[in-house]
Amino acid sequence: MDKAAQLWYQGYVTMVWISYIFANYKSPGNPPSDYVVPLHHWQKWCNKCKLYKPERAHHCRKCNSCILKMDHHCPWTNNCVGYGNMPHFIRFLVWIIFATGFTGYHLVKQAVVFYEARNLPAYLINKAELSAVIALLPLDFFVFVAVLLLFVRCVIHIVSGNTQIEEWERERLASQCHTERFWMKIRNNHKLVHNKELPKLTSWNLTAVQYRNLEEEETTEERNSSSTDEENESLVPKLFTADDFIFPYDLGMFRNIYNNLGNPLLWILPWSGPPGSGYEFETNTDGDQLNLPWPPDGGNVDFPSRKLSDEELRQLGNVSLIKKHLDPRGTMKREAWTNDEGEGLTDYGVDVSAEEEKGIKL
Ligand SMILES: [Zn+2]
Ligand SMILES: [Zn+2]
Repeated sequence: MDKAAQLWYQGYVTMVWISYIFANYKSPGNPPSDYVVPLHHWQKWCNKCKLYKPERAHHCRKCNSCILKMDHHCPWTNNCVGYGNMPHFIRFLVWIIFATGFTGYHLVKQAVVFYEARNLPAYLINKAELSAVIALLPLDFFVFVAVLLLFVRCVIHIVSGNTQIEEWERERLASQCHTERFWMKIRNNHKLVHNKELPKLTSWNLTAVQYRNLEEEETTEERNSSSTDEENESLVPKLFTADDFIFPYDLGMFRNIYNNLGNPLLWILPWSGPPGSGYEFETNTDGDQLNLPWPPDGGNVDFPSRKLSDEELRQLGNVSLIKKHLDPRGTMKREAWTNDEGEGLTDYGVDVSAEEEKGIKL
């Protein structure tokens, strides 16, 4: 490495340390003790902090406190990543990527020099340097790839306006919204909040042709309808998919980035942070037919589940839907549910035993 490269390297390492200290010590934020749950929000009581948690907050079992807009507990920084320190965490990852990328580039360059000198007598080769290249190259590559993947995952979540925990929650809803018990809960919640039955839901992914067919189908249904048909009708809306759940904190790509990382002109500064309070959030309810607080089922579906018979499964006629019905996760409680990667809420650091759901504030 020449002198200029050494200076660059020192610069990167210094920035890694500065950003690490910020990511480590900067608090993600804790809910105020006098927090009052707004109307039509879930009342989630933390039986460890003895307070009502604001929306998006969770109790971390490692930090032993409620964390605002909790993303996950990071073992690398031994701190929770949440509302107050997400920009610090992202800066930390970026500087590691730069530092390991730069180091990797110079290690590869040195490895090529050794390869070209492979036919030289051994006494001309610097053995200590050769051993360092052999030991450091795979290590550097491993850290670079692992941090890059984590960074990409974080960026996807920031752009989508959700935290890692909320992404998990969305996957849970998608895996359970084909069941009667889920819709029983949704209907119940809707009745509680709006004091009326859930309206007929339609997918916003429908094409004009499908809408026309749907209308025709409905008029035929109306003509033939009898009270017994209504009794047998499934509670699961026919033309409403998991994609039709409106995630309320997705305000569009640029707003999502700004709300997570703050002013772009200040991103490079080690102390720049996000706007807002961390416990009150602007929401997007455009086209939300459910009109319920997030998550719409409250994560607490306690209605009994019914297994479909082989004949009923056959009648579904759709392989992916049959698979969904056969998947035991379809009727699991939130604390037991895991995503396709096998991650449950505790894998993000959430203490599920601390949470006590006391229904919707009415
Ligand atoms: Zn707590
Ligand atoms: Zn934590």
